[in-house]
Amino acid sequence: MYKLIDENPQSFIYKKINVGRGKNKVIGFCDFEEIVVDPYHTDCNPVSVTIHESLHWFYPEWKEKRVLREEKRIMQNLSRCQLKRIYRKIYKLL
Ligand SMILES: [Zn+2]
Repeated sequence: MYKLIDENPQSFIYKKINVGRGKNKVIGFCDFEEIVVDPYHTDCNPVSVTIHESLHWFYPEWKEKRVLREEKRIMQNLSRCQLKRIYRKIYKLL
């Protein structure tokens, strides 16, 4: 994922998404040209959403359930250092 961000910084876009309402409001999406994450969304943890959408990028054949499971697993296993590194990359893109 670091590599994906480093090599394709233009593909990561952090902006307000005006799709859906209330509970169904979209927090992020990946259309394989870009990964869009809405940091304004109140439920948005930019790190977990970035990981989630990156998983869709790397594994387009995975179903949502599997992506959610992997996202959780990765988040639980991230070291403080890795977390810092991802946050730094995201902040640079904001
Ligand atoms: Zn998803």
